[in-house]
Amino acid sequence: MNERVLVVGASIAGLTAAHWLARHGFRPTVVERAVEPRSGGNGVDLRDDAVTVVERMGLLERIRELGTDVHGMKFVDAADRTIGRIDTRELTSVEIMRGDLVALLREATDVEIRFGTAVRSLTPDADGEGGGDGDGVTVGFEHGPDLRFDLVVGADGMHSTVRRLAFGPEERFIRHKDHYFAFADAADAAAPAEDRWMTMFNAPGKMAGVWRSGNHARAKAYFVFRSEPLRYDYRDVDEHKRMVATAFADSPWPPARALLDTALADPEFYFDALGQVRMDSWSAGRVVLIGDAAWCASPAAGAGAELAVVGAYRLAGELAAADGDHRVAFPRFEAAHRPLVARSQQIGPNVGVMIPRTETGLRLRNALVRLPVLKAAASLERRMRARNARPLPVYRRPV
Ligand SMILES: Cc1cc2nc3c(=O)[nH]c(=O)nc-3n(C[C@H](O)[C@H](O)[C@H](O)COP(=O)(O)OP(=O)(O)OC[C@H]3O[C@@H](n4cnc5c(N)ncnc54)[C@H](O)[C@@H]3O)c2cc1C
Repeated sequence: MNERVLVVGASIAGLTAAHWLARHGFRPTVVERAVEPRSGGNGVDLRDDAVTVVERMGLLERIRELGTDVHGMKFVDAADRTIGRIDTRELTSVEIMRGDLVALLREATDVEIRFGTAVRSLTPDADGEGGGDGDGVTVGFEHGPDLRFDLVVGADGMHSTVRRLAFGPEERFIRHKDHYFAFADAADAAAPAEDRWMTMFNAPGKMAGVWRSGNHARAKAYFVFRSEPLRYDYRDVDEHKRMVATAFADSPWPPARALLDTALADPEFYFDALGQVRMDSWSAGRVVLIGDAAWCASPAAGAGAELAVVGAYRLAGELAAADGDHRVAFPRFEAAHRPLVARSQQIGPNVGVMIPRTETGLRLRNALVRLPVLKAAASLERRMRARNARPLPVYRRPV
């Protein structure tokens, strides 16, 4: 039942779903808007159940080898002197560059991936007899003929086309979290980065930073600024670059100018609003969403990859356990995955600590980072998570 599954988006959620769908005997096809794999991005964290999933995919050893081995965060003042550090070594299970993770997931997923193929329309069959949802969905693409699938999995990120087509405009689902952020490569000469430490400089409502992992030659620059919602084209990278350049033009931190110049020259420059996706339901008929498209918690949560990997695994597993019956599988998947999403979306304190909005808040934060209090709070949170953890099911198809 429901063998032919279209997965839209060849990133962390889509590739993980395709891997597990194929392993459970479904026939997934992946389409990706970009013409080649997107290698950009900073480090992403895999914790707890996400580590279990990649281990079950046979990837954990390679992921550990490529891990960024970051030691923590270092806060500096306008004269580039260290104010304080937060050592995160005990807190993170595995951190890996997003591009490295996507490449490993692709290697582990023996499924057809059509690059340069974006979804344009979704037409579910008219209701079948008895008020059902027909036999399938006809999918139109920006190039090429329409194709029919039994199920469609939207793993196409925060600005998901699948979500827009099946659920409605993104304004209904994306909540602006008052900030914009950018990640990019930084040329080595411009990067005074201490190996394995994420160096951060704050002005009220702004943060610029740089870091170099133990295993990667190139440093990464990042920029965050606080703002009301801005009107811009989320696909226009030149416009994004101008917005970031304007926000950091007057940064008093000496390395900021050179970091900005080199980041603006990176073709993989990645920019977005710090936003969260909140939806009452992740499925509509034969269409289901996973990853940032369904529940983006924002980079401030540090949980995007974890949620994508675990959610994709659970969706494929519930479909297998229900022998392909999406009417049984989709609600079970949602019930199982919602608690982790809900916890991860509580990001308030993270943003306040990383980007204090006033001079007073900044002074308070700088005082706090000299004390071990933040580390203790994070460690407590981690122990609570471990205590609440339930074993991740091993899903099988009924014989
Ligand atoms: C280039 C890039 C860099 C990133 N860098 C970071 C980072 O440094 N730190 C961080 O925390 N998060 C980063 N993210 C987001 C991070 O990958 C997600 O938060 C998380 O891992 C969940 O991934 P996802 O697979 O749900 O979505 P995403 O990783 O956003 O992937 C969505 C995929 O769908 C594709 N797509 C979009 N629309 C269509 C369409 N209509 N048809 C077909 N394909 C489509 C996109 O090209 C993309 O490959 C980045 C994402 C991208 C794409």
